[in-house]
Amino acid sequence: MDLDLPDLVTQAVPTPIRRAGERALEKLFKVAKRFPILRNRIEAEYEKVLDDMRTSMRPYRDEVPRHVKLPSEGRSRESLLEEMRTLKAKEDDRWADGFVSGAVYHGDAEHTAFLDQVYALNSQTNPLHADLWPRVAKYEGEIVAMTAQMLSADKVTRASDEVCGTVTSGGTESIMLAIKTYRDQAQADRGVTSPNLVMPITAHAAFDKACESFRIKPIKIPVGEDTRAVIAEARKAVGRNTIAVVGSAPAFPHGCIDPIAELSEIAYDRGVGFHTDACLGGFVLPFAERLGYSVPPFDFRLRGVTSMSADTHKYGYAAKGTSVVLYRSKELRRHQFFRATDWPGGLYASPTFAGSRSGALSAACWASMVSMGEAGYTESTRQILETADAIKHGIRQIRGLKILGDPLWVVAFASDEVDIYRVLDLMGHRRWNLNGLHKPASVHLCVTLRHTQPGVAKRFLADLAESVEDARRQPKDKGGMAPVYGLANKMPVRTAVGDILAAYLDVLYEA
Ligand SMILES: *Cc1c(COP(=O)(O)O)cnc(C)c1O
Repeated sequence: MDLDLPDLVTQAVPTPIRRAGERALEKLFKVAKRFPILRNRIEAEYEKVLDDMRTSMRPYRDEVPRHVKLPSEGRSRESLLEEMRTLKAKEDDRWADGFVSGAVYHGDAEHTAFLDQVYALNSQTNPLHADLWPRVAKYEGEIVAMTAQMLSADKVTRASDEVCGTVTSGGTESIMLAIKTYRDQAQADRGVTSPNLVMPITAHAAFDKACESFRIKPIKIPVGEDTRAVIAEARKAVGRNTIAVVGSAPAFPHGCIDPIAELSEIAYDRGVGFHTDACLGGFVLPFAERLGYSVPPFDFRLRGVTSMSADTHKYGYAAKGTSVVLYRSKELRRHQFFRATDWPGGLYASPTFAGSRSGALSAACWASMVSMGEAGYTESTRQILETADAIKHGIRQIRGLKILGDPLWVVAFASDEVDIYRVLDLMGHRRWNLNGLHKPASVHLCVTLRHTQPGVAKRFLADLAESVEDARRQPKDKGGMAPVYGLANKMPVRTAVGDILAAYLDVLYEA
């Protein structure tokens, strides 16, 4: 989620509170919210911020009809399609021309048109009714098998091991399912009732979401200068109530691969699970390895790795809405499954969180994988890594910028000389949509096939060099992301930041 909002937090925090010492700030803010007068003032400030949000988030307010109740007569299909085509045309250029970090990973017109055809052929199917649509069950079984094989399922050695998994709706669901599975396994096998999960601070927010949802305590381990998890800290953190250890291949923020071999061996020694989050890397790293790039081991070749997530809807080039979660054994996967044996609605079982869901997305995912093949994925990986190499080389030539860690294709950069969020805003003025990161303050570009188009990397580097120079010349400007991240980076107003994020979600659902 990107919040491109002016003076977000600075506006929301009343001046007296802003002037207080940093440490006192959070406390003061919480106390202030208890007094009606101050609370009203804070809420009035939030309202102003929200108005800015509404303007930026609803650009079509005056262009197309709003429907806040059902139209009394249905509108014609043709008028709806026409309206959608108009809005789509306004939104397509930016990502299609390669101005966006991540988001659309393939996006070639022919590939997209093919997926759309596959979707249309299967739009009425529902995997919950495997008896009606056995073809969808076939597609899903094969998606899991192909993904597992790609991630070294055939290299496991123990007799009880048999890599298996399920298709899910996305990386977040894959991760949440894996964590629920470990919680239930730890409860069943070891009687763990106050579960905790050991994860690097750079692990995806989906792990925090899982912890919050399933009442698991997250134990965060720091990362080193190289942005990779500190092994010794992980060793110290694992205890009797630990259900699993997590590592990323690579992590979303800085694109670096945690020391998965060492971390998973700690988990193995202590008899707990280990999840490799390869949501981002699952469909890149196996091919990078084949191309001769140095890729540390991260998959089922490591005996301690008991589960993995790999996003088909990222570098698997499927449409959004699918991912794969894998387990080392069927016994472990069993803890993911839901069964209802005495429901009046009948005998009911479902593998993931959803009940009914789209079989068309799975069909499109299967079709993407089978049409790409190993050769297709190897070639697209080659293009992405070569483009990323050129981009990393170019960033190193820009005075004042430094790359964090030693990433392959998700490149995070920071600066000791200019405000990096100012650079982020200035890149925004040049149409770029990059990801703002914090702790430490930095920005990343996640390289996709969109950036391998001729001229895109060159334009990125030229715009970046200019933006850095502009930031040096005019360090301050009203609005943009700079003040937001500037304050969000300091812990004191985290409550305010949290309030604003919740309000953002409210605005998202305003009709
Ligand atoms: C994208 C991503 C996720 C979560 O994926 P969603 O598909 O957005 O739910 C998890 N981990 C990593 C490393 C990711 O890059």
